Amino acid sequence: MTWAPLLRLKEALGPQAELVIVGGAVRDELLGRPHADWDLATRMLPQTVMERARAAGLKVIPTGLQHGTVTVILEDRPVEVTTFRSDGDYLDGRRPESVRLGVDLAEDLSRRDFTINAMALPVGGGDLVDPFGGRTDLTARVIRAVGDPLQRFAEDGLRPLRACRFASQLGFEVAPATVEAIPFRLEVARKVSVERVFTELDKLLGGAEPERGLGLLADTGLLDLWLPELRPMIGCGQNRHHRHDVWNHTLAVLRGVPADSGLRWAALLHDAGKPGVRSSGPDGEVHFHGHEARSLELAEAILDRLKASHALRRDVAALIRHHGTHPTEAWSDAACRRFLRRLAEDGLHLTRWATFRLADQRGKGLELDARLAAHEVLTARLAALALSGPPLSVSDLALDGKALLALADRPGGPWLGELQRHLLEVVIDDPDLNSPETLTRLVRQRFEEGRR
Ligand code: ATP
Ligand code: MG
Repeated sequence: MTWAPLLRLKEALGPQAELVIVGGAVRDELLGRPHADWDLATRMLPQTVMERARAAGLKVIPTGLQHGTVTVILEDRPVEVTTFRSDGDYLDGRRPESVRLGVDLAEDLSRRDFTINAMALPVGGGDLVDPFGGRTDLTARVIRAVGDPLQRFAEDGLRPLRACRFASQLGFEVAPATVEAIPFRLEVARKVSVERVFTELDKLLGGAEPERGLGLLADTGLLDLWLPELRPMIGCGQNRHHRHDVWNHTLAVLRGVPADSGLRWAALLHDAGKPGVRSSGPDGEVHFHGHEARSLELAEAILDRLKASHALRRDVAALIRHHGTHPTEAWSDAACRRFLRRLAEDGLHLTRWATFRLADQRGKGLELDARLAAHEVLTARLAALALSGPPLSVSDLALDGKALLALADRPGGPWLGELQRHLLEVVIDDPDLNSPETLTRLVRQRFEEGRR
């Protein structure tokens, strides 16, 4: 079960080090789940870890000596080695005031958040160290706080969100006492930095069962701390195109798109604007006029507040902006190309748009065979048109700006951009016209008309 290079480190540190694998790596190894990193713990003090590892020719970085952590590079991979420690008092609901190094393993495990994260496995073999029944909870698929959840959530306000995140990633239940403690500790959770909140929310959305994690956020009140705009979606009834209310439709779309950050955030936010624009017509039918624009506004405000990256914000905005476009068979090829141009302008790849739209359609939860078949046909048609490489931006024109200036024989100015946009419209209507000769003829014609 142990990764072979860890044995080299164990040898370098010697038997007194009591080197163990801890935390997420143990949990994921027992689940047979891939994990990105190995977290190690040792009785040895960080200074000694550094000296012995270096003496054995290993590269070591003193990443967080005050917390007892050094990073050892094993086969080009960074591995964190942390000295067994206990946390001092938590005064601000975020971090312990101090840490104490040199405690024993049991005490180190007792500071960890959930039983499934509080096990240790000796490097090189030996029995699992599992003082809180983590293995049983892993088998029963339960997330349970180590110790008294009310106290553990009072120490660190991030833990309730981590519980929801693990529920989503692992598809586990949260133990009743653990989940029931969360509403009593919202004021502590509120103090967590936005960066840590975003990281956890992003992992929650990327999980195997994001709807489970979001359901927990909604039930416990955590949703209202960080995503209050989403609360009105719950119970917001829709129309004959939908089986579900806006919230449950959103959860279905979330589940339906691949676990990619942009797609998942867009799924979460794409209909957030609906409750605010809901109206019913004279026929009693419910409408959501302009909901894409309103959702876009909300999404931008939320992602800005959560300090999401610009790349993510752009991606989500593009997906939301175009999710309400429904090309039909009646569209001309030129109309399809104009749509491709709008996607290209927003940096949105056709397959991403199609993936998102498919999940959105499926998420309506109605008899969909005809609609899904139409989606397939249209996507295939758009893909074929895109594949033929039609001109979609002025940079695709067969005559570049310099050539147009030479043809016009006059200084540049706003007329140039206008001319390029005109030519683009012409060649989007008929891409066969996009040759230097034809464009030259068209430009000359236009100048002559202008003179008359
Ligand atoms: P992953 O790395 O897959 O996101 P993980 O469980 O390894 O999950 P990390 O944030 O890497 O999570 O933390 C490593 C370990 O440190 C956890 O398994 C847990 O034992 C402990 N831990 C992390 N954050 C906290 C916390 N806020 N409170 C208590 N223990 C924590
Ligand atoms: Mg980890």
